[in-house]
Amino acid sequence: MHEIDFLVIGSGIAGLSFALKAANHGKVMIITKSNEDESNTKYAQGGVAVVVDKSDSFEKHITDTLIAGDGLCDVKVVENVVREGPKRIQEIIDYGTHFDKRTDGVYDLAREGGHSEHRVLHYKDVTGFEIERALLEKVHENPNISVLTHYFAVDLITQHHLGKFVDKSTTDITCYGVYVLNTVNNRVEKVLSKVTVMASGGAGHVYASTTNPVIATGDGIAMVYRAKGKVRNMEFIQFHPTALYNPGEYPAFLVSEAVRGFGGVLRRKNGDPFMEEYDSRGSLAPRDIVARAIDSEMKKSGDDFVFLDITHRTKEDILKHFPNIYAKCLSIGIDMSRDYIPVTPAAHYLCGGIMVDEYGRSSIRNLYACGECASTGLHGANRLASNSLLEATVFAHRIYEDSISQVNSISVSGSIPDWDDSDTVLSNEDILVTHNLRETQKVMSDYVGIVRSDFRLERAMRRLGLLYDETESFYKNTKLSVKLCELRNVIQVAYLVIKSAMARKESRGLHYTTDYPERSKELVNTIF
Ligand code: FAD
Repeated sequence: MHEIDFLVIGSGIAGLSFALKAANHGKVMIITKSNEDESNTKYAQGGVAVVVDKSDSFEKHITDTLIAGDGLCDVKVVENVVREGPKRIQEIIDYGTHFDKRTDGVYDLAREGGHSEHRVLHYKDVTGFEIERALLEKVHENPNISVLTHYFAVDLITQHHLGKFVDKSTTDITCYGVYVLNTVNNRVEKVLSKVTVMASGGAGHVYASTTNPVIATGDGIAMVYRAKGKVRNMEFIQFHPTALYNPGEYPAFLVSEAVRGFGGVLRRKNGDPFMEEYDSRGSLAPRDIVARAIDSEMKKSGDDFVFLDITHRTKEDILKHFPNIYAKCLSIGIDMSRDYIPVTPAAHYLCGGIMVDEYGRSSIRNLYACGECASTGLHGANRLASNSLLEATVFAHRIYEDSISQVNSISVSGSIPDWDDSDTVLSNEDILVTHNLRETQKVMSDYVGIVRSDFRLERAMRRLGLLYDETESFYKNTKLSVKLCELRNVIQVAYLVIKSAMARKESRGLHYTTDYPERSKELVNTIF
């Protein structure tokens, strides 16, 4: 058993930024299910959107974010994130993160789809890797922070585990910590905490094709939903329009939006550019429009991809800005300074998640959430490119400020029972778990993708019901494994995505359905 002041689940930008601050006010434990740096953060390429240039303004960034969010952003949250952004990013720089500068010493700001200005700080095309490196180095120096790798958070501990009845109508659910699977000895341990911060990232692996690393199975969201906490706007899944088409590669490699910001043009197989036919902003239109346009082109042509063309830029320029993407393409025989790059959309970012207020407080007492697992109100119905790393740092700070004012008045609960798996047996049928995961992902990609309809959603829900029943019965009788827990979480998140999509009788932002192609006049969030 572990007892701690601040428990952080996840070691991406959200969890690490919070931990570094909270460590000044108590003992912090970070638990993370894989290697410490494995996270969506590590793979972020494009960068961090933040107002640092004199020609830019908070108002412009706020407006761009609100336009992308298509009416569903919380304006106050957008203002807070944009205005507090520069301070938070300066802290990331002070921790040792490098961002590219021009020869005159000024930051080299990139422009991405939906942004009216150049405002994206980046480090070549490996910005997330650089941020993760710098934050982890600082964490290692801090004696108040312990990092437990290969520890998998299974379920939140609430009064339910004290034998009290909890359901969706219970108004005062409290989090006492987490049951965690130590994957080295396969034992479930208790971590009791005063404050718990969910920073467990996204859920790309709910789909068959995704840019997310394999850790992104929506664990935190599923845990909160199981504990009867609130989740919001799960129908808004961002599909990145330009993942590299390379059959068999999983997860898919991302060709950053910055390539289009750098002049990249989307073309049909015959070389014709097509984006102007869909949007006056052409290849620089926001992601949802570009993804739908590519989806429509692929459906019309029957092809599995379209092309991205950056051949008009010099090889030197390309290598300077996109060394990682260049090397990846070259490894499969594509020299992007001469050849068109085959690209296809892939699940990329979850805009919804654990519902939190402006201080990152979830609907469960003493449980906060930040980063991709949280629904803060910043993104609304669609995330503006490169706003997520920014959001994670701003909310990590807001949670820090709120939680340090609370932590001393909270005591660790002493009467939590140990995990009881006495009625379960070791599984000799792990292949069922793999099959059910693949089936779930296929159902979601086939029926709950970029273009939806009532018919497809109902079909998806029926199939998911069967997978849910099978998996739950397997779970009840079998000793825990990471794969089984992840499967349960993926199914739970898939259910929330479908249910939320069914509830939205309109097309807005990332949610497009052929049955209700127009926006409704009413602005509603989907909350379960
Ligand atoms: P993550 O960085 O994903 O970290 C989650 C952590 O939680 C991981 O350490 C994971 O192991 C851990 N975890 C999960 N479940 C459990 C569990 N059950 N138990 C214990 N630990 C658990 N955003 C931008 O703003 N700009 C970009 O340019 C950009 N490019 C991107 C490119 C790619 C390829 C991808 C995939 C994403 C990109 N994003 C970008 C999105 C951005 O990277 C993420 O939204 C952000 O990094 C999320 O940070 P996080 O800390 O919330 O989660």
